[in-house]
Amino acid sequence: MRILISGAGIGGPALAYWLARYGHRPTVVELAPGPRAGGQAVDFRGPTHLTVLRRMGLLDELRAHRTGGTPMTFTDPRGRTRLRLPAEFAGGEVEIPRGDLVRLLHRHSAPGTEYLFGDTATALRQRPDGVLVSFRHAPERHFDLVIGADGLHSRVRALAFGPERRYVRHLGYYAATWPFPNRLGLPAGSTGINTPGRLAAAGADPRDPDRAGAFLLFASPELPLDRHDPARLKALLRERFADLPHPVPHLLATLDEVDDRDLYVDSISRADVPAWSDGRIALLGDAACGATIGGMGTGTALVAAYVLAAELARADGDHRTALTRYERTVRPYARRCQRGGDRTGPFLAPRTARGLWLRNTLLGRRPLLDRMLAMGEDIATLDLPEPARAPQG
Ligand SMILES: Cc1cc2nc3c(=O)[nH]c(=O)nc-3n(C[C@H](O)[C@H](O)[C@H](O)COP(=O)(O)OP(=O)(O)OC[C@H]3O[C@@H](n4cnc5c(N)ncnc54)[C@H](O)[C@@H]3O)c2cc1C
Repeated sequence: MRILISGAGIGGPALAYWLARYGHRPTVVELAPGPRAGGQAVDFRGPTHLTVLRRMGLLDELRAHRTGGTPMTFTDPRGRTRLRLPAEFAGGEVEIPRGDLVRLLHRHSAPGTEYLFGDTATALRQRPDGVLVSFRHAPERHFDLVIGADGLHSRVRALAFGPERRYVRHLGYYAATWPFPNRLGLPAGSTGINTPGRLAAAGADPRDPDRAGAFLLFASPELPLDRHDPARLKALLRERFADLPHPVPHLLATLDEVDDRDLYVDSISRADVPAWSDGRIALLGDAACGATIGGMGTGTALVAAYVLAAELARADGDHRTALTRYERTVRPYARRCQRGGDRTGPFLAPRTARGLWLRNTLLGRRPLLDRMLAMGEDIATLDLPEPARAPQG
């Protein structure tokens, strides 16, 4: 089958890899001029994530790139430590910078995939035998299937299923992250100043102490935010965090030198799409069931890509059966993972002083922490379908 995938983030290249192994001809169209390497570290936990990575032949390479996890320290504005969380809390079993994963998946999938960077689909017309796709730059083309793996603000979803406001719910917080040169000599791990409804954190890259990453989070009702206007995004961050002490003024100053492509600012939101496919068009990853930060979106996108490709192989060309089985398997799993994302904002930056105190007190106790870690693994466990026939290659 000729299959168009929109989005070269995590789910898109993972799906392309599997489709090529099953003998299909995937094309990936990505809006950015190359793989978008921004973002913090992302993590994998539990046997399901690790099995998919192993079956993709990526686990060893991923382990070679891993950060070793990110211990988190929360302080008050006077620098007094209020809570420490161990590396495995945010880092799972394998944690890797998102950018490294994006590059790895691109490289791994490239031999069997046609990549169209710097382009996007502008219209999708379904016909009984396929989908006619118009692009901003490339000539119009016919595909057997179109998969939207273009993230929380999916273009394919907007074109085929309707406007974003129907499917994406704002969860009351915004998050921002960007890399900067570690001129302050910050230690590895993440150390953040908490005030009610805000967190300003930073830490060195554990593999390169000259590099560091910033992470800001703040509570806010939905703002009329243009995610493609870096100057406005930077102004918003400066305004929201102007009053916090060292090292926050330094972090904000590094915004002047950050490459706009490396700045990631988004609302903490959740996508819920009642049906993930319509005829020959389907959604994958954040486009279908995303949760920004904390909802295990990366692991879910990888698992969903594996299941979708396996079901297409099993159904032997019957895309309706394959898409129905894919959604039936992945939806309840994704929903469980998403729930973690619903609580990320209130967890990282409780809105009141009392909420902060309560979080610090409860999570300062090891038994509760261990229970939360075990729960994370249970949630991320799924009975994976076996491939219907041996993949090629
Ligand atoms: C730059 C960036 C940084 C991120 N940082 C974090 C982070 O720090 N922490 C975290 O938890 N999650 C982060 N995420 C989200 C995380 O990657 C996803 O939750 C998860 O990996 C699911 O992957 P996905 O492939 O569904 O979506 P994504 O990884 O979001 O990938 C979607 C891809 O689609 C592309 N795209 C968007 N619109 C179009 C279009 N119209 N046409 C073609 N392509 C399009 C995007 O450029 C992107 O490459 C980030 C996403 C991006 C794009």
